[in-house]
Amino acid sequence: MEFLVGAASISGRVRQANEDAFLVADGIVAVADGMGGHRAGEVASAETVDTLRAVVGMRAPADIAGAVHLANRRVHDQAAENDELHGMGTTVCVLAEVDDDGGTRLVVLNVGDSRIYHFGEGVLTQLTEDHSLVEVLVRDGRLTPEEAEVHPQRNVLTRALGVEAVVEVDSWLLTPADGDRFLLCSDGLFNELSSDRIAEVMTSAADPDVAARLLTERADTAGGRDNITVVVVDVAETGAPSAPLEGRLRRVTLPPVDLTDLERDAAAAEGADDEPTSTHPIVEAMAVETADGSPPARTNPPALSAPTADSVPSTAPPSRWSPRWFVAAVVVVVVIGVAAIVLGVLGGSSGPAPTTSTSTSTVATSTTDATSVPPAPTVSATTPPPAGP
Ligand code: MN
Repeated sequence: MEFLVGAASISGRVRQANEDAFLVADGIVAVADGMGGHRAGEVASAETVDTLRAVVGMRAPADIAGAVHLANRRVHDQAAENDELHGMGTTVCVLAEVDDDGGTRLVVLNVGDSRIYHFGEGVLTQLTEDHSLVEVLVRDGRLTPEEAEVHPQRNVLTRALGVEAVVEVDSWLLTPADGDRFLLCSDGLFNELSSDRIAEVMTSAADPDVAARLLTERADTAGGRDNITVVVVDVAETGAPSAPLEGRLRRVTLPPVDLTDLERDAAAAEGADDEPTSTHPIVEAMAVETADGSPPARTNPPALSAPTADSVPSTAPPSRWSPRWFVAAVVVVVVIGVAAIVLGVLGGSSGPAPTTSTSTSTVATSTTDATSVPPAPTVSATTPPPAGP
């Protein structure tokens, strides 16, 4: 099977930063839409794409899903360890070529409200289900799809990567056929363009690169209120003639896989381009308690983190935002002060104290040398999230 891929990603007309990320690699494509303050969303989506890159070439559906689970854990752990990244998360949708039952299939994975569509014979079909509040309300018959499209809380997610220590990943296997075209996109596309307008471009642009560019441009022109990311994939040489989608897609449950080795590779390949400073509406919306009696969106649980070998023993009680930020700030100041004094005493005139490149991990490490530092609640242990469904 051959993938012909076109992709485009723009920040749109309103947002300063582009917190979307996408992956185009051999036999695998993905879109991630990050969320979180101080550009943490960029970290979350980039981290997820990096983790997925590490399974390029793997052919077991469970391995691809395993990478999504691993990305969830890595985003979650970073958010718990670094106050600047607290509350970050990301959507992710993945389409990858895999082997199943002696044949070549496509695995479709989704968490959040980025989407994968199938387009064939003029028909656009959404394959993934949005993990959003409005989707739940539509399913319950409390909103029509038309109402959902303009609902003020349509950005509220019920599931995202990195929010909890364990995430549920929706999974499907699809038997490909020649002529299949797939569209992966962030909500910046379909919140601006109707399905009809998307289908129109998918029909008119034969080249996937042109289709991806046209779709982002039109969504931008239509308002561009969010980052817009589009990946268009044409599959060829599948060995099966063009056929309707019916009967070729089935939902599956994939077994958990151990990706310990992958974790080491992915950690080694970790980029250094994390520079935190803007907000994303989804994360704010996720924290909103619904006031109108509708089911509450899931809020971000307090950070949960296990102390590492060289971190200071933590005795901090469960705490929330403002106090936590305040305590963390005080601790950082105290620790820097003590470290400066200790270094000054030990090092004599060996130069100035370390400057303030204060990531929390640096601070935690430096306190292991200090003798008179109180237990530092830079990492706070809290109650675990409720068990999944
Ligand atoms: Mn978005």
